[in-house]
Amino acid sequence: MEDNLRNEVEAGKAKFQDFSIAPSHTCEHIINQTMVRLFDCGRAISAHIEKKKSKLDFKMDKELSLEDLQRLESEVNRIISLDLPIIITYIPEEEAKERFDINRLPKGTSDTLRVVSIGDYDQCLCIGTHVEHTMEIGIFKLLTHSYSDGVLRIRWKLI
Ligand SMILES: [Zn+2]
Repeated sequence: MEDNLRNEVEAGKAKFQDFSIAPSHTCEHIINQTMVRLFDCGRAISAHIEKKKSKLDFKMDKELSLEDLQRLESEVNRIISLDLPIIITYIPEEEAKERFDINRLPKGTSDTLRVVSIGDYDQCLCIGTHVEHTMEIGIFKLLTHSYSDGVLRIRWKLI
């Protein structure tokens, strides 16, 4: 969890300010929350997000079945189709400590942290650029997956 959070926050620092990958990056938040809800794992441990094709790695006890992967794909698309608003709020670091695991966040100069909410589906600390409504994301398509050493890697794109 700590690593995941740090990855997302650090990812937000540079590249994810780029609006051209905002749909993919916003979809990444939804995929993370959907993985947590469906399979009781943590958010991605590493991410490589591009405009065309992206990949995410999750620590998993066991490989997901094709059926599981289809559930993931259809659930992410169901959430996108709800056209949830993406809402940015700022909370004091003290409150963030209670709601999120921020132990490994880089120490900043600000004492407020930025929370990105996707409707009431997902909340995480992130300073990246996002779309305003989930319908702007498009359609989430899983491409390939692999599993080794306890890590599931999914490759996906938006169409
Ligand atoms: Zn983000």
